Amino acid sequence: MMDDRIIDLRSDTVTKPSAEMRRAMAEAEVGDDVFLEDPTVNRLQARAAQIFGREAALFVPSGTMGNLTCLLAHTRPGQEVICEQKSHIYNMEMASMSAVGGVLPRPIAAEDGIMTWEQVSRAIRPKVYSRAQTALVCVENTHNLAGGSVYPSELLYEICDRAHEAGLLVHLDGSRIFNAATYLGEDVAGITKKFDSVQFCLSKGLGAPVGSMVVGSRAFIERCRSIRKMVGGGMRQAGVLAAPGLIALEKGPQRLHIDHENAKILAEGLAKTPCIGLNPAKVQTNIVIFDIRETGLSASDFLAELARRKVLGVPVDSDKVRMVTHLDVGRSDVDYAVAVVQEMVGSFSRRPAGTLAS
Ligand SMILES: *Cc1c(COP(=O)(O)O)cnc(C)c1O
Repeated sequence: MMDDRIIDLRSDTVTKPSAEMRRAMAEAEVGDDVFLEDPTVNRLQARAAQIFGREAALFVPSGTMGNLTCLLAHTRPGQEVICEQKSHIYNMEMASMSAVGGVLPRPIAAEDGIMTWEQVSRAIRPKVYSRAQTALVCVENTHNLAGGSVYPSELLYEICDRAHEAGLLVHLDGSRIFNAATYLGEDVAGITKKFDSVQFCLSKGLGAPVGSMVVGSRAFIERCRSIRKMVGGGMRQAGVLAAPGLIALEKGPQRLHIDHENAKILAEGLAKTPCIGLNPAKVQTNIVIFDIRETGLSASDFLAELARRKVLGVPVDSDKVRMVTHLDVGRSDVDYAVAVVQEMVGSFSRRPAGTLAS
Protein backbone atom coordinates (compact mmCIF):
# COMPACT_ATOMS: atom_id res chain seq x y z
CA MET A 1 0.00 0.00 0.00
CA MET A 2 1.50 3.30 -1.08
CA ASP A 3 1.03 6.14 1.38
CA ASP A 4 -1.11 8.46 -0.75
CA ARG A 5 -3.06 5.64 -2.37
CA ILE A 6 -6.84 5.43 -2.09
CA ILE A 7 -8.26 1.98 -1.37
CA ASP A 8 -11.36 2.06 -3.52
CA LEU A 9 -13.81 -0.59 -2.36
CA ARG A 10 -16.92 1.14 -3.72
CA SER A 11 -17.44 -1.39 -6.49
CA ASP A 12 -15.69 -3.87 -8.77
CA THR A 13 -16.58 -1.46 -11.59
CA VAL A 14 -13.75 0.92 -10.60
CA THR A 15 -10.96 -1.21 -12.07
CA LYS A 16 -8.83 0.47 -14.73
CA PRO A 17 -7.95 -1.32 -17.97
CA SER A 18 -4.58 -3.09 -17.81
CA ALA A 19 -1.63 -2.27 -20.08
CA GLU A 20 -2.52 -5.37 -22.10
CA MET A 21 -6.09 -4.09 -22.52
CA ARG A 22 -4.88 -0.63 -23.56
CA ARG A 23 -2.66 -2.22 -26.18
CA ALA A 24 -5.49 -4.39 -27.46
CA MET A 25 -7.72 -1.30 -27.69
CA ALA A 26 -5.09 0.58 -29.71
CA GLU A 27 -4.58 -2.34 -32.07
CA ALA A 28 -8.19 -3.56 -32.36
CA GLU A 29 -9.45 -4.32 -35.84
CA VAL A 30 -12.71 -2.41 -36.24
CA GLY A 31 -15.67 -1.88 -38.58
CA ASP A 32 -19.21 -0.56 -38.31
CA ASP A 33 -21.02 -2.86 -35.90
CA VAL A 34 -24.47 -1.60 -36.93
CA PHE A 35 -23.58 -3.21 -40.31
CA LEU A 36 -22.32 -6.25 -38.34
CA GLU A 37 -18.86 -5.46 -39.70
CA ASP A 38 -16.76 -5.08 -36.59
CA PRO A 39 -14.55 -8.18 -36.48
CA THR A 40 -13.55 -7.68 -32.85
CA VAL A 41 -17.15 -7.31 -31.66
CA ASN A 42 -18.05 -10.37 -33.73
CA ARG A 43 -15.24 -12.34 -32.09
CA LEU A 44 -16.30 -11.26 -28.61
CA GLN A 45 -19.91 -12.25 -29.30
CA ALA A 46 -18.92 -15.62 -30.75
CA ARG A 47 -16.66 -16.35 -27.78
CA ALA A 48 -19.30 -15.37 -25.21
CA ALA A 49 -21.85 -17.59 -26.94
CA GLN A 50 -19.36 -20.47 -26.95
CA ILE A 51 -18.48 -20.10 -23.26
CA PHE A 52 -22.18 -20.08 -22.32
CA GLY A 53 -23.05 -22.93 -24.71
CA ARG A 54 -25.57 -20.76 -26.57
CA GLU A 55 -26.26 -19.95 -30.19
CA ALA A 56 -25.53 -16.25 -30.03
CA ALA A 57 -24.50 -13.25 -27.94
CA LEU A 58 -24.78 -9.47 -28.17
CA PHE A 59 -22.38 -6.80 -26.88
CA VAL A 60 -24.22 -4.01 -25.04
CA PRO A 61 -22.84 -0.83 -23.46
CA SER A 62 -24.01 -1.63 -19.91
CA GLY A 63 -25.66 -4.21 -17.73
CA THR A 64 -28.65 -1.94 -17.36
CA MET A 65 -29.15 -1.86 -21.12
CA GLY A 66 -28.60 -5.61 -21.31
CA ASN A 67 -31.29 -6.26 -18.71
CA LEU A 68 -33.70 -3.79 -20.31
CA THR A 69 -33.14 -5.25 -23.77
CA CYS A 70 -33.98 -8.74 -22.51
CA LEU A 71 -37.00 -7.46 -20.60
CA LEU A 72 -38.37 -5.68 -23.66
CA ALA A 73 -37.78 -8.79 -25.77
CA HIS A 74 -39.65 -11.02 -23.31
CA THR A 75 -42.65 -8.89 -22.35
CA ARG A 76 -45.49 -6.67 -23.55
CA PRO A 77 -46.73 -3.50 -21.78
CA GLY A 78 -49.19 -4.32 -18.98
CA GLN A 79 -47.58 -7.61 -18.04
CA GLU A 80 -45.85 -8.37 -14.74
CA VAL A 81 -42.28 -9.33 -13.94
CA ILE A 82 -41.46 -11.21 -10.73
CA CYS A 83 -38.19 -10.09 -9.17
CA GLU A 84 -36.57 -10.03 -5.75
CA GLN A 85 -37.22 -6.97 -3.60
CA LYS A 86 -33.55 -5.94 -3.36
CA SER A 87 -32.76 -6.78 -6.97
CA HIS A 88 -30.75 -4.39 -9.09
CA ILE A 89 -33.37 -4.47 -11.83
CA TYR A 90 -36.00 -3.22 -9.36
CA ASN A 91 -33.90 -0.69 -7.43
CA MET A 92 -30.99 0.58 -9.48
CA GLU A 93 -32.07 0.78 -13.11
CA MET A 94 -34.15 3.95 -13.09
CA ALA A 95 -37.40 1.93 -13.11
CA SER A 96 -36.64 1.27 -16.77
CA MET A 97 -38.86 -1.80 -16.93
CA SER A 98 -41.84 0.43 -16.17
CA ALA A 99 -40.67 3.71 -17.69
CA VAL A 100 -39.61 2.18 -21.00
CA GLY A 101 -41.18 -1.27 -21.04
CA GLY A 102 -44.58 -0.52 -19.50
CA VAL A 103 -44.35 -3.60 -17.32
CA LEU A 104 -45.13 -3.86 -13.63
CA PRO A 105 -42.57 -5.32 -11.25
CA ARG A 106 -43.94 -7.81 -8.72
CA PRO A 107 -41.15 -7.79 -6.09
CA ILE A 108 -40.91 -10.52 -3.49
CA ALA A 109 -38.66 -10.43 -0.43
CA ALA A 110 -36.38 -13.42 -0.01
CA GLU A 111 -33.82 -14.24 2.67
CA ASP A 112 -30.32 -13.35 1.41
CA GLY A 113 -31.99 -12.40 -1.87
CA ILE A 114 -32.33 -16.07 -2.83
CA MET A 115 -35.90 -16.75 -4.02
CA THR A 116 -37.37 -20.23 -3.77
CA TRP A 117 -39.83 -21.62 -6.33
CA GLU A 118 -42.45 -21.64 -3.58
CA GLN A 119 -42.07 -17.85 -3.17
CA VAL A 120 -42.04 -17.24 -6.90
CA SER A 121 -45.11 -19.38 -7.53
CA ARG A 122 -47.16 -17.50 -4.94
CA ALA A 123 -46.51 -14.27 -6.86
CA ILE A 124 -47.79 -15.60 -10.19
CA ARG A 125 -51.05 -13.92 -11.15
CA PRO A 126 -54.08 -16.18 -11.65
CA LYS A 127 -55.37 -16.41 -15.20
CA VAL A 128 -58.32 -14.12 -14.61
CA TYR A 129 -59.10 -11.74 -17.45
CA SER A 130 -59.12 -8.63 -15.27
CA ARG A 131 -55.70 -9.35 -13.79
CA ALA A 132 -52.34 -8.27 -15.15
CA GLN A 133 -50.58 -11.40 -16.35
CA THR A 134 -47.17 -12.57 -15.21
CA ALA A 135 -44.77 -12.91 -18.13
CA LEU A 136 -41.28 -13.20 -16.71
CA VAL A 137 -39.23 -14.10 -13.66
CA CYS A 138 -35.92 -12.26 -13.13
CA VAL A 139 -33.23 -13.92 -11.04
CA GLU A 140 -30.09 -12.12 -9.82
CA ASN A 141 -26.97 -14.26 -9.28
CA THR A 142 -24.84 -13.27 -7.46
CA HIS A 143 -27.24 -11.03 -5.60
CA ASN A 144 -25.62 -7.62 -5.23
CA LEU A 145 -27.55 -5.91 -2.43
CA ALA A 146 -27.94 -9.15 -0.51
CA GLY A 147 -24.13 -9.22 -0.22
CA GLY A 148 -23.01 -11.24 -3.23
CA SER A 149 -25.05 -14.32 -2.30
CA VAL A 150 -25.09 -17.31 -4.66
CA TYR A 151 -28.00 -19.50 -5.80
CA PRO A 152 -27.42 -23.24 -5.54
CA SER A 153 -27.64 -24.51 -9.13
CA GLU A 154 -30.38 -27.01 -8.29
CA LEU A 155 -32.59 -24.15 -7.13
CA LEU A 156 -32.00 -22.30 -10.42
CA TYR A 157 -32.96 -25.42 -12.38
CA GLU A 158 -36.10 -25.84 -10.31
CA ILE A 159 -37.15 -22.20 -10.76
CA CYS A 160 -36.55 -22.34 -14.51
CA ASP A 161 -38.26 -25.70 -15.04
CA ARG A 162 -41.30 -24.86 -12.96
CA ALA A 163 -41.60 -21.37 -14.43
CA HIS A 164 -41.51 -22.82 -17.94
CA GLU A 165 -44.21 -25.32 -16.98
CA ALA A 166 -46.28 -22.36 -15.81
CA GLY A 167 -45.79 -20.65 -19.17
CA LEU A 168 -43.32 -18.05 -17.91
CA LEU A 169 -39.92 -17.01 -19.23
CA VAL A 170 -36.89 -16.59 -16.98
CA HIS A 171 -34.13 -13.98 -17.31
CA LEU A 172 -30.87 -14.06 -15.39
CA ASP A 173 -29.28 -10.82 -14.26
CA GLY A 174 -25.91 -12.54 -14.12
CA SER A 175 -23.85 -9.39 -13.81
CA ARG A 176 -21.51 -11.36 -11.52
CA ILE A 177 -22.28 -14.87 -12.77
CA PHE A 178 -18.57 -15.71 -12.99
CA ASN A 179 -18.29 -14.96 -9.26
CA ALA A 180 -21.14 -17.41 -8.64
CA ALA A 181 -19.48 -20.04 -10.83
CA THR A 182 -16.16 -19.53 -9.01
CA TYR A 183 -17.84 -19.94 -5.63
CA LEU A 184 -19.64 -23.11 -6.71
CA GLY A 185 -16.72 -24.58 -8.66
CA GLU A 186 -19.06 -25.01 -11.64
CA ASP A 187 -19.02 -23.50 -15.12
CA VAL A 188 -21.26 -20.67 -16.24
CA ALA A 189 -22.76 -22.69 -19.10
CA GLY A 190 -24.10 -25.26 -16.65
CA ILE A 191 -25.43 -22.80 -14.09
CA THR A 192 -27.22 -20.72 -16.72
CA LYS A 193 -28.36 -23.42 -19.14
CA LYS A 194 -32.08 -23.29 -18.36
CA PHE A 195 -32.53 -19.51 -18.56
CA ASP A 196 -34.18 -17.95 -21.58
CA SER A 197 -31.69 -15.10 -21.47
CA VAL A 198 -28.59 -14.12 -19.54
CA GLN A 199 -26.94 -10.75 -19.06
CA PHE A 200 -23.42 -10.63 -17.63
CA CYS A 201 -20.99 -7.77 -17.07
CA LEU A 202 -17.49 -7.55 -18.53
CA SER A 203 -16.97 -4.30 -16.65
CA LYS A 204 -17.09 -5.64 -13.08
CA GLY A 205 -14.83 -8.32 -11.59
CA LEU A 206 -13.65 -9.39 -15.04
CA GLY A 207 -11.94 -6.01 -15.37
CA ALA A 208 -13.04 -4.55 -18.72
CA PRO A 209 -13.56 -0.79 -18.86
CA VAL A 210 -17.00 -0.98 -20.51
CA GLY A 211 -19.70 -3.39 -21.49
CA SER A 212 -21.97 -6.33 -20.88
CA MET A 213 -23.10 -9.31 -22.91
CA VAL A 214 -26.52 -10.83 -23.51
CA VAL A 215 -26.58 -14.51 -24.48
CA GLY A 216 -29.42 -16.68 -25.76
CA SER A 217 -30.84 -18.34 -28.86
CA ARG A 218 -30.07 -16.88 -32.29
CA ALA A 219 -33.66 -15.71 -32.76
CA PHE A 220 -33.70 -14.09 -29.33
CA ILE A 221 -30.41 -12.29 -29.91
CA GLU A 222 -31.68 -10.97 -33.28
CA ARG A 223 -34.65 -9.46 -31.47
CA CYS A 224 -32.31 -8.00 -28.88
CA ARG A 225 -30.19 -6.43 -31.61
CA SER A 226 -33.21 -4.46 -32.87
CA ILE A 227 -34.20 -3.48 -29.35
CA ARG A 228 -30.64 -2.41 -28.52
CA LYS A 229 -30.81 -0.11 -31.56
CA MET A 230 -34.18 1.22 -30.42
CA VAL A 231 -32.83 2.18 -26.99
CA GLY A 232 -29.77 3.84 -28.53
CA GLY A 233 -27.22 1.09 -28.00
CA GLY A 234 -26.23 0.47 -31.63
CA MET A 235 -22.50 1.19 -31.62
CA ARG A 236 -20.16 1.74 -34.56
CA GLN A 237 -16.40 0.95 -34.28
CA ALA A 238 -17.04 -0.74 -30.96
CA GLY A 239 -14.12 -3.10 -31.46
CA VAL A 240 -12.01 -0.75 -29.36
CA LEU A 241 -14.32 -1.66 -26.45
CA ALA A 242 -14.77 -5.30 -27.40
CA ALA A 243 -10.99 -5.88 -27.44
CA PRO A 244 -10.49 -5.37 -23.69
CA GLY A 245 -13.78 -7.22 -23.21
CA LEU A 246 -12.26 -10.30 -24.85
CA ILE A 247 -9.27 -10.15 -22.53
CA ALA A 248 -11.62 -9.75 -19.56
CA LEU A 249 -13.66 -12.75 -20.68
CA GLU A 250 -10.62 -14.99 -21.20
CA LYS A 251 -8.53 -14.00 -18.19
CA GLY A 252 -10.91 -12.40 -15.67
CA PRO A 253 -12.68 -15.52 -14.41
CA GLN A 254 -9.44 -17.30 -13.45
CA ARG A 255 -8.56 -14.80 -10.74
CA LEU A 256 -11.95 -14.16 -9.11
CA HIS A 257 -11.13 -16.60 -6.30
CA ILE A 258 -8.53 -14.05 -5.13
CA ASP A 259 -11.23 -11.39 -4.79
CA HIS A 260 -13.33 -13.88 -2.81
CA GLU A 261 -10.43 -14.67 -0.48
CA ASN A 262 -9.81 -10.96 0.04
CA ALA A 263 -13.50 -10.36 0.75
CA LYS A 264 -13.43 -13.13 3.36
CA ILE A 265 -10.38 -11.56 5.04
CA LEU A 266 -12.06 -8.17 4.93
CA ALA A 267 -15.27 -9.60 6.41
CA GLU A 268 -13.47 -11.48 9.18
CA GLY A 269 -11.47 -8.38 10.12
CA LEU A 270 -14.53 -6.14 10.14
CA ALA A 271 -16.56 -8.66 12.13
CA LYS A 272 -13.98 -8.47 14.93
CA THR A 273 -14.36 -4.69 15.14
CA PRO A 274 -16.58 -3.35 17.93
CA CYS A 275 -19.87 -1.79 16.73
CA ILE A 276 -19.64 -3.43 13.28
CA GLY A 277 -22.41 -5.94 12.57
CA LEU A 278 -21.50 -8.65 10.08
CA ASN A 279 -21.60 -12.43 9.76
CA PRO A 280 -18.49 -13.37 7.75
CA ALA A 281 -19.86 -16.88 7.19
CA LYS A 282 -22.41 -15.30 4.82
CA VAL A 283 -19.76 -13.73 2.60
CA GLN A 284 -19.54 -16.05 -0.39
CA THR A 285 -18.08 -13.91 -3.16
CA ASN A 286 -16.56 -10.41 -3.49
CA ILE A 287 -19.22 -8.26 -1.76
CA VAL A 288 -19.17 -7.40 1.94
CA ILE A 289 -22.14 -5.56 3.48
CA PHE A 290 -22.00 -4.59 7.15
CA ASP A 291 -24.14 -2.79 9.69
CA ILE A 292 -22.66 0.34 11.29
CA ARG A 293 -25.69 1.41 13.37
CA GLU A 294 -23.93 0.78 16.68
CA THR A 295 -21.17 3.24 15.82
CA GLY A 296 -23.82 5.96 16.24
CA LEU A 297 -23.08 7.28 12.76
CA SER A 298 -25.16 7.20 9.62
CA ALA A 299 -23.68 5.24 6.73
CA SER A 300 -22.87 8.46 4.87
CA ASP A 301 -21.07 10.00 7.89
CA PHE A 302 -19.23 6.74 8.49
CA LEU A 303 -18.11 6.70 4.86
CA ALA A 304 -17.08 10.37 4.91
CA GLU A 305 -14.84 9.66 7.92
CA LEU A 306 -13.45 6.62 6.16
CA ALA A 307 -12.79 8.61 2.97
CA ARG A 308 -10.68 11.07 4.99
CA ARG A 309 -8.54 8.02 5.78
CA LYS A 310 -8.42 7.11 2.08
CA VAL A 311 -10.69 4.08 2.17
CA LEU A 312 -13.88 4.17 0.11
CA GLY A 313 -17.15 2.23 0.28
CA VAL A 314 -20.79 2.98 -0.59
CA PRO A 315 -23.93 3.21 1.55
CA VAL A 316 -26.56 0.50 1.03
CA ASP A 317 -29.06 2.28 3.27
CA SER A 318 -28.73 4.58 6.29
CA ASP A 319 -27.31 1.75 8.45
CA LYS A 320 -25.37 -0.38 6.01
CA VAL A 321 -22.14 -0.02 4.09
CA ARG A 322 -20.94 -2.07 1.13
CA MET A 323 -17.35 -2.87 0.20
CA VAL A 324 -16.38 -4.85 -2.89
CA THR A 325 -13.04 -6.49 -3.64
CA HIS A 326 -11.61 -6.50 -7.16
CA LEU A 327 -8.42 -6.84 -9.17
CA ASP A 328 -7.11 -3.41 -8.24
CA VAL A 329 -7.05 -4.17 -4.49
CA GLY A 330 -4.63 -6.65 -2.99
CA ARG A 331 -4.36 -8.46 0.31
CA SER A 332 -2.33 -5.64 1.89
CA ASP A 333 -4.98 -3.09 0.84
CA VAL A 334 -7.65 -5.17 2.52
CA ASP A 335 -5.56 -5.49 5.69
CA TYR A 336 -5.06 -1.73 5.61
CA ALA A 337 -8.81 -1.09 5.18
CA VAL A 338 -9.58 -3.29 8.19
CA ALA A 339 -6.96 -1.52 10.30
CA VAL A 340 -8.36 1.87 9.28
CA VAL A 341 -11.93 0.90 10.23
CA GLN A 342 -10.73 -0.47 13.57
CA GLU A 343 -8.72 2.66 14.33
CA MET A 344 -11.61 4.90 13.24
CA VAL A 345 -14.30 3.13 15.27
CA GLY A 346 -11.95 3.13 18.26
CA SER A 347 -11.39 6.87 17.94
CA PHE A 348 -15.16 7.59 17.97
CA SER A 349 -15.63 5.78 21.22
CA ARG A 350 -12.92 7.95 22.85
CA ARG A 351 -14.32 11.22 21.56
CA PRO A 352 -17.08 13.19 23.36
CA ALA A 353 -20.42 12.94 21.58
CA GLY A 354 -21.15 15.57 18.94
CA THR A 355 -17.54 16.44 18.09
CA LEU A 356 -17.21 14.23 15.06
CA ALA A 357 -17.89 16.81 12.38
CA SER A 358 -15.21 19.22 13.56
C1 LIG B 1 -23.93 -3.58 -11.98
C2 LIG B 1 -25.17 -4.36 -12.05
C3 LIG B 1 -26.06 -4.21 -13.12
C4 LIG B 1 -25.96 -3.12 -14.15
O1 LIG B 1 -24.76 -2.89 -14.70
P1 LIG B 1 -24.34 -1.46 -15.30
O2 LIG B 1 -23.30 -1.89 -16.28
O3 LIG B 1 -23.81 -0.69 -14.15
O4 LIG B 1 -25.51 -0.84 -15.96
C5 LIG B 1 -27.17 -5.01 -13.14
N1 LIG B 1 -27.39 -5.91 -12.20
C6 LIG B 1 -26.57 -6.10 -11.16
C7 LIG B 1 -26.87 -7.14 -10.14
C8 LIG B 1 -25.42 -5.32 -11.04
O5 LIG B 1 -24.61 -5.51 -10.00
